[in-house]
Amino acid sequence: MPLALIVHGGAWDIPDNEVAEHQEGCRQALAAGWRVLEQGGRALDAVEAAVRVLEDAPIFDAGVGSVLNRDGDVELDAAVMDGETLRSGAVAVVRRVRNPITLARRVLESQVILLVGQGAERFAESAGIPFCDPTELIVERERARWQELHQQSNYRAQDAFGAARAKQSAPQPTSLSHPGDTVGCVALDRTGQLAAGTSTGGTANKLPGRVGDSPLIGAGLYADTSTGGCSTTGWGESIMKVLLAKTATDLIGAGHTPMEAARAAIDVLARRVGGLGGCILLDAQGRPGLAFNTPRMAYAYRTEGGDEIVGV
Ligand code: ASP
Repeated sequence: MPLALIVHGGAWDIPDNEVAEHQEGCRQALAAGWRVLEQGGRALDAVEAAVRVLEDAPIFDAGVGSVLNRDGDVELDAAVMDGETLRSGAVAVVRRVRNPITLARRVLESQVILLVGQGAERFAESAGIPFCDPTELIVERERARWQELHQQSNYRAQDAFGAARAKQSAPQPTSLSHPGDTVGCVALDRTGQLAAGTSTGGTANKLPGRVGDSPLIGAGLYADTSTGGCSTTGWGESIMKVLLAKTATDLIGAGHTPMEAARAAIDVLARRVGGLGGCILLDAQGRPGLAFNTPRMAYAYRTEGGDEIVGV
């Protein structure tokens, strides 16, 4: 089976001066995941390796560099799914783990699917995953953004996307100017197994305890070796309503190419719930697909024998 790997670094109005760093982050993540696949590694391992690189890059809203919640804290969500067994592992509202994708992977190997907050951190401790100081996840850029948001009264009551929704049915352009650098990856390994993973700090100025689509199976990610794998990004409250990742992979199952499926799924998101976001896909043959209805989405992909494609 030919190898394939696709990553994203979030869908929003990525400013011109941050484009190069987004592309470089995606390129490095692609390289890390590809190395695993080339060495005969499993799709799950490639997804974990690629997402860890994205979590470690401060430009993205995942791991270090995540957006801050209303209290000024980072709360992380992540999930991973194995397309062969349909097993998955997810964590949410985690504050002391630098690489929540690795914690999600450990959850996948356990008897449960989703762990949150203190319970997730206790599980991390028992799994030997080291804790970090929560302040290590905060970068100056996000501290400054948080302070700026808190000087704007219209952002006090809601997160960035929610504030726009409360005012009118279609989100205002200002909602797109807030970071949506959630990260994700889908991989196809030599044995034909697909896996998907997604990791995020959520939406800027979110309510403490708010969990978006990213760690939810069917919304933030899905992988089924009989159809395809998907990771999504964007306004979580809309993505959850249409189960964007499951919708996209089901469209592959119905006979669409991954590119058609990605476009049709984003169309459902926009038409049905006025949502904003993007998705990346691979089908069981390793064909890539992607679509977004935000001004930009950072992505990179590679298929065996093909060129490395990096874009926004
Ligand atoms: N989907 C993420 C969330 O709502 C945010 C994003 O992708 O930018 O938590």
